[in-house]
Amino acid sequence: MKYETVIGLEVHVQIKTKTKIFCSCSTEFGKPPNANTCPICLGMPGVLPVLNKRFLDSSMKACLATHCTIEPMNRFARKNYFYPDLPKGYQISQMEHPLGTKGFINIDVDGKQKKIGLTRIHMEEDAGKLIHGENLGSPGKSYVDFNRTGVPLCEVVSEPDMRSPEEARAYLTELKAILEYTEVSDCNMEEGSLRCDANVSIRPVGQKEFGTRAEIKNLNSFKFVQKAIEYEVARQAKILDQGESVKQETRLYDSDRGETFTMRSKEEAHDYRYFPDPDLVPIVIDDAWVEEIRKTIPELPEQKRERFVSDYEIPEYDAGVLTSSKPLADYFEQCATQFPQPKIISNWIMGDLLRELKKDGKEIGDCPVSPSALVALLKLIDAGTISGNTAKGVFEEMYQTQKPASRIVEEKGLTQITDSSAIEEIVDEVILANPSQVEELRGGKDKVLGFLVGQIMKASKGKANPGMVNKLLKEKINR
Ligand code: ADP
Ligand code: MG
Ligand code: ZN
Repeated sequence: MKYETVIGLEVHVQIKTKTKIFCSCSTEFGKPPNANTCPICLGMPGVLPVLNKRFLDSSMKACLATHCTIEPMNRFARKNYFYPDLPKGYQISQMEHPLGTKGFINIDVDGKQKKIGLTRIHMEEDAGKLIHGENLGSPGKSYVDFNRTGVPLCEVVSEPDMRSPEEARAYLTELKAILEYTEVSDCNMEEGSLRCDANVSIRPVGQKEFGTRAEIKNLNSFKFVQKAIEYEVARQAKILDQGESVKQETRLYDSDRGETFTMRSKEEAHDYRYFPDPDLVPIVIDDAWVEEIRKTIPELPEQKRERFVSDYEIPEYDAGVLTSSKPLADYFEQCATQFPQPKIISNWIMGDLLRELKKDGKEIGDCPVSPSALVALLKLIDAGTISGNTAKGVFEEMYQTQKPASRIVEEKGLTQITDSSAIEEIVDEVILANPSQVEELRGGKDKVLGFLVGQIMKASKGKANPGMVNKLLKEKINR
C-alpha cells in the first residue's frame, strides 16, 4: 500500500523581551536557578499580572509578517493542569480569542512555491524547568527552576498542509527566518527559544479523510524534527500494512536511538478546563494600532529573495541560500557593494565560506573573514595575481589566521605566473615527460587534456595561470 504523509506543526517561540510576560523579572538566560523570580511569576496568592506591551507589539509583528489577521478582541484564558513546574496550577494562554488567525507561509518545494496555512498564533507564558537529581549526583531528588516561568511565548499552529519531512523542515526554516528578520525572537534552539511539536499521520494515496495522528512533543532541532517524522511515518505504515490502526497519542523522540515512543494515550489526555482569566482585561486592538505595527516590518526573506534575483541576477537557488538568514544576506550585500560580481561572491559564500563555518559549527556572525577581507581576495583573482585554485588555499588560511589575503600571497610567494615564456617552459617539460598522453590527445582523446593541464599546474605549484596553460598546451599540441 502507498501512503501519503500529513504533517501539522505547533511551534513555541520565545519572544525577545527584557522582562517577563506579566511581571518585571528579567528573561535573561543562564542565570542561577530561581534568580529571575518574584511573587507574580511564582504564583503567590493575591498578586495581579500585568501584560508586557512590548511582548504584545512583537507578537502582532509576528502575526502580520506571517499574513495573519489580527483579532480585534483578545482574551487570555487559564489552562488548568497540575505539574510541579507550574506554580499557579494553571498556565495563562489564549483559547477562543487568539491574537492572529488564518495566516500562511510560502515554502519552496522542488522549485515551486507552496503555501502552508497557519491556523493561529496565540500568546502564552512558559512554565518552569525540572532538574532531576540523577544529573546532579543526588538521585531521588528533583529540583525546580522558575526562571523560565512567565517567559513570553507565541505558539504558532500550522494547518495539516505539509506532505513530507522535507516540507516540514522547509516550513520551520522559513518561519525561523521570518522571526529573525522581524527581530521578534532570536530563535536560539539551544536555549529553547524555538521548540516544535510535530503532528503526523498517513493515509492511503487517494483517500480524502486524514488518518489518525500522533503528536511528537518537544523537538528541539530541525534535524530531530525531520528524523522523528521519518521514523513516525515508517512506524505508522507498518501498523496499517498489518491491517491494524494507528492510535491517537502523544509521543516523545529519543534522539540517541532515533525512535519515537509513547508518552501518553488519548485517554490520558488532560482536560484543561479553559476559562477566561479574570485577572487580565480583554485587549481591544484597533486598525490604527495594527497599521502602526505593520510599518515596523522590514523586508522579509521572501521579498529579499526576489530582490536578490532581480537586482543581482543570481539564480533563485543562490538567493534562497543567501537569504536563509539575515546576517548571511547582509554579508553578501556588503561584499556586493564593494565588488560588483554577485555570482562570484555567491559561489564563494555558498561554497568555501559556508563549508568552513559548518566545519567549525559557527554562524556567519562569528565568521573570522569579514566581507571586505573576502572582497580583497576576490580582487586578487580578478586582477590575475592568483588563480582561483590558489585562492581556495589562501581563503582557508585567512579563515584560520585572519591574515589579509595579500599578506598570505606575499609570504607564501603564491603570485600567479602570467609570464608566457615561463609557462611555456613548464608546458614543454610536461609534454616531454608524457609522450603517450600527448599522442592520445593528438588522436582526439580530449579527456587527457585535463590530466596534462593538471600536471602543468602541479609542476608550477599551482601558480601558472590556468587560462594561459590551456591555451599554450593546445597551441603546442595542435601544431
Ligand atoms: P491539539 O490542540 O490537540 O494539539 P489541534 O486540533 O489544535 O489539536 O491540532 C494541532 C496540530 O495538529 C495542528 O498543527 C494541525 O494542523 C495538526 N493536525 C490535525 N489533524 C492532523 C492529522 N490528521 N494529521 C497530521 N496533523 C494533524
Ligand atoms: Mg497539540
Ligand atoms: Zn516575576
